[in-house]
Amino acid sequence: MILSIAIDSPVRNTFDYLGGDVSSTAVQAGYRVRVNFAGRLLTGVVIAVKDTTDFDLKKLKVIDAILDDEPVFPSSLLTLLSRISRYYHHPLGEVIFSALPVKLRQGKPLDSNDQEIWFAQTTGLAENIATLKASPKQRALFTFIQTAEQGVSITMLREQFKSPGALLKVLKSKQLIRSERQAVMLHNTLSSQTRTTAPTLNEEQTAAVQVLKKTFGGYHTSLLDGVTGSGKTEVYLALIETILAQQGQVLIIVPEINLTPQLEQRFRQRLGNIVATLHSGLNNSERLSAWRAASVGNLSVIIGTRSAVFTPFKSLQLIVVDEEHDTSLKQQKGFRYHARDIALLRAQIEDCPVVLGSATPSLESLENVTQGKYQSLLLTQRAGGAKPPRLHLVDLRRQELTEGLSHTLLEKMREHIKRGNQVLLFLNRRGYTPVLICHDCGEAVDCPRCSSHTVWHASIHELRCHHCGYQSRPPAACPACEKPDLLAIGLGTQKLEQVVQSCFPNEPVIRVDRDSMSKKDSLSETLKAIAENEYKIIIGTQLLAKGHDFPNITLVGMIDVDQGLFSTDFHAPERLAQQILQVSGRAGRGDMPGEVVIQTHQPEHPLLQQLLQQPYSAVASSQLEERKEAGWPPYSHLALIHASAIDKEKATQFLREVRSICQPLSPDTLEVLGPVSSPMAKIAGRFRFQLLLRADTRQPLHQLLKIARPQIQKLKAARQVRWSIDVDSVDMN
Ligand code: ADP
Ligand code: ZN
Repeated sequence: MILSIAIDSPVRNTFDYLGGDVSSTAVQAGYRVRVNFAGRLLTGVVIAVKDTTDFDLKKLKVIDAILDDEPVFPSSLLTLLSRISRYYHHPLGEVIFSALPVKLRQGKPLDSNDQEIWFAQTTGLAENIATLKASPKQRALFTFIQTAEQGVSITMLREQFKSPGALLKVLKSKQLIRSERQAVMLHNTLSSQTRTTAPTLNEEQTAAVQVLKKTFGGYHTSLLDGVTGSGKTEVYLALIETILAQQGQVLIIVPEINLTPQLEQRFRQRLGNIVATLHSGLNNSERLSAWRAASVGNLSVIIGTRSAVFTPFKSLQLIVVDEEHDTSLKQQKGFRYHARDIALLRAQIEDCPVVLGSATPSLESLENVTQGKYQSLLLTQRAGGAKPPRLHLVDLRRQELTEGLSHTLLEKMREHIKRGNQVLLFLNRRGYTPVLICHDCGEAVDCPRCSSHTVWHASIHELRCHHCGYQSRPPAACPACEKPDLLAIGLGTQKLEQVVQSCFPNEPVIRVDRDSMSKKDSLSETLKAIAENEYKIIIGTQLLAKGHDFPNITLVGMIDVDQGLFSTDFHAPERLAQQILQVSGRAGRGDMPGEVVIQTHQPEHPLLQQLLQQPYSAVASSQLEERKEAGWPPYSHLALIHASAIDKEKATQFLREVRSICQPLSPDTLEVLGPVSSPMAKIAGRFRFQLLLRADTRQPLHQLLKIARPQIQKLKAARQVRWSIDVDSVDMN
């Protein structure tokens, strides 16, 4: 017996090993094994069991051990993983291992986090219960277990009763209770929360739910295109309730980890204790237990970020991708996959519907609607009667500014606060000031390791690089001309907080960014305090831009949108439009109408003008026309080959060699462009270059990469650089 095994190594997709004296019933695809790989014992996953090999039989090693007695991946998931390994031209082993929870990568038993669950017996109870009269403690414990229909985990019992061990033994001997080991979510809290009921859906929501329900039971993609606050989440909830009624499971993908706690709470209040979240904030045991609980069907709804798209399910019947336009759904290093696109592939394999939701759909998805590949459902009205916010542009040119704040914005802030409402100021730049500049020679203090400025963090008296994490004390003099005359220029969130606080000394101000919210739970506590109206002025970066629902915010000020107007990345206008509308969407979600003030030095910019006067769909159409003219996606298909090295020459030389591999393989419809320096030319001491492959249709691009990749892998130069292939890049940096 020969086993073809995936190992966490980039060298090849699979490696052949001999089964040894293992019987053919003891192992199949999806089992983990331990193998000797180049002198180390590693975990591998069996991809196929076969009886021939292309390698020299005498050189094959025998596997060291079989680790499972059931597959860790259902076969549908293995199919998905091998398809995406081919699609992203990424080694299968690395794809498989990035999909596995850490504990399973380490070879720990699949059931290592299963728990003892206690149930009340269903027969012969009456006479046994009589024996409890004398013991209130036993009675209390028994009643507690009896009321929990799905059993109670030992963890939960320990929380409620100090040390229940002895009591449990007694109750068991009286044949009142029994226990079973089960895969459940760790730290599962009881559903003691008050359950909320669904609002009556409005006409558009009802229509959307009706149409979407018709797609149940088979593969189908729909785009739920609904303005911010239109009640998309309520549509998901209505769909989920139907799926749950037929014992199905649902996967919900969201872009940001900070969106999960709020969503989890909302879902649990509605659906009960069958919802769990999967994201990078969980520890390894929690991850494994959620993975297992979903896989055996003990959890019905999983809400998670990117990698949750690889969760195994017993009966997956619906996938929702919320904020489908969001680029954080795409992994930007290592295995560069897009969770939305994988969700579509997964839905095909599982034969279930997928719903993509957004107020600002990606141009790709809109084009798929035009081509009839996706069905589009519109929610044009805000739910519950809230009005769309009004947008104003404030021309900053030649205006007198209070540290970057215009008179108009300050006035509006006063008005809204006076009415008892909250104000959100959006500035996507952490730190105190973004640059320290020499007043004498004009040189900025740069990161010594990156092609970027260091950001001045006044509160900790430190310069920091936001790209590589480099930290230093501010220099006493300009590093270039040695004059001791350094000026802090520009506006970061810390300085904005200070300025705003001095303009509004009596109002509570809070700053929400990665620096101020670095402690665990501080973000969710702050979000709660904001919702409870504890702060009047909220200063936030993109941490706050998405998804959140704050009914008392009626004014949003966007301090500086100009940066997005100057980017060279062809994605920039789409991203800026989405950002402006998403941030604006935080205004006026309750009964009070919202206003948005956008400060700019480019008030005539066509993109800003269009955003002011037309709906997102019109902005998107114009952007699609521009993409068509310039030949960018979705009217072409891209792959970037990145390379970085400390020695510039090594990176460019490698890409030149890659180019000479690709060029002869390229048909007329495929261009090989570069190598050129990446827009971020240097990060953490490594020079970055890229080669761009652009094709009219997908097929020749993938054909080329399929042939070229193994050849690139073998290049001597490949060993001297870090390189990666990025299929369908969303960011050209
Ligand atoms: P979205 O997901 O589109 O941003 P949400 O589902 O979060 O919108 O809804 C926005 C707000 O409107 C929420 O507070 C929600 O409870 C409320 N809401 C949604 N649908 C209705 C409805 N049919 N009637 C009343 N309120 C609703
Ligand atoms: Zn740096």
